[in-house]
Amino acid sequence: MRELLAKLTGIPSACGHEYDVIRYLRDRLMDKADAWEIDGLGNLIVRKDGGQPGPVLMMSAHSDEVGFIVKKIENNGLIRFEKIGGNDDRILPIEKVIVCTQNGPIKGLIGYLSAHMRKFDKADLIRPYSQLYIDIGAEDKADAEAMGVEIGDAIVWGTQYEEFGSSRAMGHAFDDKVGCAIQAKLIEELDWSKVKGTVYFVFSVQEEVGLRGARTASHNVVADVALSIDTTAASDTFESMMDQMVCLGKGPGIKAMDFSFISSVAVRRKLQQVAKANNIPYQLEVFTGIGTDAGELHMAHKGVPTGSVSVPSRNAHTALEVIDLQDMEYAKDLLGAFILALEDKDEFKFVK
Ligand SMILES: [Zn+2]
Repeated sequence: MRELLAKLTGIPSACGHEYDVIRYLRDRLMDKADAWEIDGLGNLIVRKDGGQPGPVLMMSAHSDEVGFIVKKIENNGLIRFEKIGGNDDRILPIEKVIVCTQNGPIKGLIGYLSAHMRKFDKADLIRPYSQLYIDIGAEDKADAEAMGVEIGDAIVWGTQYEEFGSSRAMGHAFDDKVGCAIQAKLIEELDWSKVKGTVYFVFSVQEEVGLRGARTASHNVVADVALSIDTTAASDTFESMMDQMVCLGKGPGIKAMDFSFISSVAVRRKLQQVAKANNIPYQLEVFTGIGTDAGELHMAHKGVPTGSVSVPSRNAHTALEVIDLQDMEYAKDLLGAFILALEDKDEFKFVK
């Protein structure tokens, strides 16, 4: 799965510009699917039928990543940009980026003051992104345009996937290429003859700008139960707000609540029960700093019992997110075991 994660994070997919990663997943998974479609917004929806009848499960992992968009090309060739999704202005300067032009990807970096200039600056000033600029090595505006850059081009972090420590990985867009990799592997590896029911795997678009793809996809599928699969912010470092409740290397998170939804108690308890039965470590999670596709899935149609499984990450929405690869494996194991444990849609009823 780590090879797939490396591959997926290397395909730029800023919100609204996910076509290359959606195409890759479509081409890879279409022969394994019982049915598939790409809807008008760009969501890839893959249907897998089990060998026996049972409930309809809808799962979603988002294919988009936070990024930027070209707003203006200055006369000296430097690029002004707008943010797409939740990037923190404090961590933008001096990071590599990739600008996705009509001629293909080009390298760049977000520029900043040389250290020698700092003594002439306000020492504690944090410049908002609107005052920053991307240097693509262009001599002037005409040179930048000749390189293929135009207003509206998507921009993503330019870091590469790397492994370090005994089971850690650093890179960008683990949020949520981790979930996409897990879903692809479940489609490819699960023994579907043993599954009772039908699973719709959604590779959603535009999650980072407000769960927009999940909203469209949830109109499309009438499900008995739903799950989102995403990364979550670990709280295991030293900053004052960190409560050590979700740690790297201690297994996937099973959400009770985030800002986008309150988990179905029945679905959450079923996930816990499946984890215990299969000796999969997990961490219960209450964190109001994050939302996921579950925020749309649970309110679709007449309401769908919905839960969420997450892979803890440090430095989320930066050029170098960090995850524990074993957490990702356990999250896949948990979701695979949940699918194999599907029996009866009434199991998830609000009142039995
Ligand atoms: Zn996410």
